[in-house]
Amino acid sequence: MDKYVYEFADGGRHMANLLGGESAGLAEMTRMDLPVPPGFTITTEACRFYLEHGREPARLAEEITRAWTQLEASVHKQFGADRPMLVAVRSGAEISMPGMMDTVLNVGLGDEAVEQLASWSGDERFAWEAYSRFVRSFAETVLRLPEYLFRTAEADVRRSAGTTATGELDTARLKTLTHVYQHIVRHETGDAIPRDPRRQLELAVRAVFDSWNGERARAYRNREDIPEDLGTAVNVCLMVFGSLGPNSGTGVAFTRDPATGAPGAYGDYLRRAVGEDIVAGLRNTVPLTELERLDPASYAHLCANLRALETHYRDVCDIEFTIERGTLWMLQTRIGERGAEATFRIASDLVDEGVITPDEALGRVTGERLARLLFPRFADSAHGHPSAHGVAASPGAAVGRIVFDAHKAADHKAKGQNVILVRPQTRPEDLPGMLASIGLLTTSGGKTSHAAVVARGLGIPCVCGAERIELDPHHKTLTLPDGTRLHEGDFLSLDGSTGDVFAGRTPLVTSPVAREFLHPAGGAPQLWPGPEPAHDEAVVHAVQRVLGWADHHRRLGVRANADTATEADQARAFGAEGIGLCRTEHMFLGDRQPIVERLILAETAQERGAALAELLTVQREDFRAILRVMDGLPVAVRLLDPPLHEFLPDLTELEIRHATLDDRSRDRRHTARLLEAARRTHEQNPMLGLRGVRLGLTSPGLYATQVRALAEAAAQLRAEGGDPRPEIMVPLVGDVRELRLIKLQAEQVLAEVSASTGIEVSCPIGTMIELPRAALTAGDLAADAAFFSFGTNDLTQTTWGFSRDDAEASFFPDYLKHKIFDVSPFQTIDPVVGSLVTQATAAGKSARPGLETGVCGEHGGDPASIRFFDQAGLDYVSCSPFRVLVARLEAGKAALEKE
Ligand code: ADP
Ligand code: MG
Ligand code: MG
Repeated sequence: MDKYVYEFADGGRHMANLLGGESAGLAEMTRMDLPVPPGFTITTEACRFYLEHGREPARLAEEITRAWTQLEASVHKQFGADRPMLVAVRSGAEISMPGMMDTVLNVGLGDEAVEQLASWSGDERFAWEAYSRFVRSFAETVLRLPEYLFRTAEADVRRSAGTTATGELDTARLKTLTHVYQHIVRHETGDAIPRDPRRQLELAVRAVFDSWNGERARAYRNREDIPEDLGTAVNVCLMVFGSLGPNSGTGVAFTRDPATGAPGAYGDYLRRAVGEDIVAGLRNTVPLTELERLDPASYAHLCANLRALETHYRDVCDIEFTIERGTLWMLQTRIGERGAEATFRIASDLVDEGVITPDEALGRVTGERLARLLFPRFADSAHGHPSAHGVAASPGAAVGRIVFDAHKAADHKAKGQNVILVRPQTRPEDLPGMLASIGLLTTSGGKTSHAAVVARGLGIPCVCGAERIELDPHHKTLTLPDGTRLHEGDFLSLDGSTGDVFAGRTPLVTSPVAREFLHPAGGAPQLWPGPEPAHDEAVVHAVQRVLGWADHHRRLGVRANADTATEADQARAFGAEGIGLCRTEHMFLGDRQPIVERLILAETAQERGAALAELLTVQREDFRAILRVMDGLPVAVRLLDPPLHEFLPDLTELEIRHATLDDRSRDRRHTARLLEAARRTHEQNPMLGLRGVRLGLTSPGLYATQVRALAEAAAQLRAEGGDPRPEIMVPLVGDVRELRLIKLQAEQVLAEVSASTGIEVSCPIGTMIELPRAALTAGDLAADAAFFSFGTNDLTQTTWGFSRDDAEASFFPDYLKHKIFDVSPFQTIDPVVGSLVTQATAAGKSARPGLETGVCGEHGGDPASIRFFDQAGLDYVSCSPFRVLVARLEAGKAALEKE
C-alpha cells in the first residue's frame, strides 16, 4: 500500500514528483549528512486526492500522527527534552513555484509553548516575538483573515509604544501585540487558534493544499505552463531560529554567482532574522563575505556544504540556510536558476573543473540563451519604468532619434545619426528605411508582422504593436500613454527582448560576445559608453568553447541568409559556411528604384533594354562584392521573387500625389504613368500572384540579366585569382517545366559569358521548394535541379493556405489561445509542412544521389526546427547572420542527442 507521509531520510532528489522539489532537496541533503532539521513530507498524491475529493485521504491523519510522534522522539533525542517542538509547514511542488504558495512557521506555539520557548532560549523577548508572528501568520494564511486588521492593530501598538519599528518593541509590548492579535482572531472567528499542535498542523496542511489553487499560484502556472493537476507536497520541518541573538541569522546562497557565473559562493545574509525577512526586503542584507567576518566557523561550514552540494548535484545549487546560535542549518536546495551569461560560463567552467563532460555542457546550454548574448543591451543601471509597452518582436536594445518615414531614415543615417523608425506598420517598400534604422517601433501587428520578420532577419531590435502609443504622421508626433509628446528627431529607447519603450536615451552597451566575433581585434565602436564587466572575457571564451564542442558533433551545415556584402561579412565572422539565400530584391530598391520604374514603364524593346542594361551594371557590382567576401564558399542567389509592382510606390500614395500635382508639370505625367502601371499590375492576392518563376517566365530579359550579372561578376573575380562559388536558385517553382525553361535560358547566358570572357564559371542551378506541388513532385524536379532549397516560410503559407501577414494580424492570437497550434508555424516548423520537407528530400535524393538540400526560411534559425531538419537528413540550414551561432549550437546539440 502506498504511503502518504515520508520521513526526510526516506526520500531523495529523484522523488520530486511525489515529494515536491523542496522536500526532495531536503531529503537528498539529509542523506548526504548535511545539517537538515528533522522532518517529514506529505506527498503530492495526498494533495491531489484532497483537491479532487475536497477532503484528505482517510489514512492521512493517522500517518501524520505517527510521523509527528516519531519527530518528537527524534527531536528530544537530538536536542534534549526542553526544546519546544515547533515546525515549519511549507509547500513545495514538483516544479519550483517560488513564493507562490503558503508557508506557516512556528506551528505548535501556544500560551504554554511560548513560556517553554522563553525558558529554553533564555530570551523572553525572542519567544514573544515568535509568538506574535505565529498568531498573525496563522490567522492570515490558515484562517484567511484579512491582513489589514493585523496591520492596523500593529500600527496602534507601535504608536502607543512611541516607535515606528516592530523590531524595537519590548517584551511587554510584544505580549500586548500577541493578545491583540488573539483578540482579533476570537472576534472574527468566534474561536481561538487551537492549542493542540497536532490540530494546528492539520489546519496548516490544509491551508497549504488550498494554496495550490490560490490566485498567485494559478497565474504563475499559467505563465510558466505548469500543469494544473500536479498538486503540492507539504513539508513539515523542525523550526530553527535565526533571530536568537547576535550569533544567529539567516541567508540565501548560490554555489556560484547566478548572474555572471563567476566561481565562488555568492549570497546574502541577514543577522538576527528569520528567512521571511530576507524575502520581504524590509531590512538590508549583507553580502555573504560579511558572514566570514561575523562567524568564520559557520561561514567555513557553509562553504564546505556548498562545495559538497555542487559536487553532488554536478551543477550550481541555490540554498536557504539559518544559523541558530552559531550552528548552521540547511533549509532548502535546488538547481540554481541562472542568467544567459552564467549559463555558458558555468557550463565551460564545470568542464574545466572536471565536474562534467563537454557533451554534458552542451546539454546545459541552449540556442535561445546564446541569442540573448548577441544583441546590444541596456546597461544594467538603466532599467527604469518603461513609457510604453508592445510585443517583443526582435530582441536587443536600441537608442536613436525618431523618424516617421523610411526616406527620412535613410537621410538621417547618411548624416551619421542613429534612427528608430516609427510606423503604424511597415511594407516592403520601407525596406531601405528599415535597413537605415537601428530599431523599429510599430503601433500595430505582432511577432510575425512584416516589421518583426524583417527586423529579426536583419538582427535589428523591434517592438511591434505598441497600441497605446498614438501616431500623428501628419504633424510628425508620437504621444506616449502618459501624454508625453515626442517629435521627429527626439530620442527614444526600446528593448526588443522585453517590448519596453522608453522616452529619451537609455544607456546601451554592445554585446561583448557579438563584438568578439565581428571585430576580434577588439577595436569595435561601442554603441554607447558603458561599463565593461571584467567577466566579459570569460563569457566570450566560454561561448567559443561551447561552440567548438557543438561543431565537433554537428552534421548539418550552417549557411546564412545575406543580401549585401556587409551581411555576408557578418555571416562569415559568425562562422557561416556559405550563403543559403541571397535575395536580390534589395538590389531593386533605394537609388535603383528609378531604374525599376523605367523598366516597368518601358514601352519599346529599346527602352526596356536600356533599363535592363543599367540593372546589369549595378547588380554585377553587388554580386562581386558579395562573392568576394564569401570567396571559396557557396553563395545561393535567388532570382527575383516579389511581384514587380511592389517596387512601385503605394497605389493610394500615387493617387494622392497625382491629384495634388499641377496639371502641366512633368512630374504629373510621370506620376500618371506610374499610377496607370500600378493599377494595371495591382493584384488581389500578390502572395499568390505574378511572382517568382512566373515573373521570370513572363518578364523578358529579367532573369537573364540577373544571371548575366552574377556570371560576369564571378568571371571577373576568377580572373583576379579568386574562388567565387555562385549558385542560382529559382523561386516558387511548382512544376519541372517551369524550372526547365528558366534553366535553359540561364545555361545559355552562362555559356555566352564564358565564351565572351574566356573563363568557365561553374554555377549549379537549383530550385526552391516552397509550394506543396513542388514538394510532391520532388522526384521530377530533381532530374533538372542541382540542389533543393526549402523556402519554409512560403511552404507554410501555401500548405496552410494563409498569408502570414494577414493571418498573424487577425486570427493567430485566437489560434494560439485555442491551442490549434502551441507555437506559430512560422516560428517552429509545422509537422505537416515538415513531412513535405522530409518526403521531398527523400524523393529528391533517390532521383539524384548526392542532391544537396537546405532550408532557407526563418525556421533555419529556430532550435526546434533545426532539430527536425537534422532528423530529416538535410545538408544545411540557412538563417540570418545573427542566428548563425545559434544554428551551429543547436545543430551540434541535435547531432549529439541522436548519438
Ligand atoms: P518559499 O518557497 O517562498 O521560499 P519557504 O517554504 O522556503 O518559502 O519558506 C519561507 C521562509 O521560511 C524561508 O525564508 C525559509 O528559510 C524559512 N524556513 C523554512 N523552514 C524553516 C525552518 N525549519 N526553520 C526556520 N525557518 C524556516
Ligand atoms: Mg524557499
Ligand atoms: Mg519564398
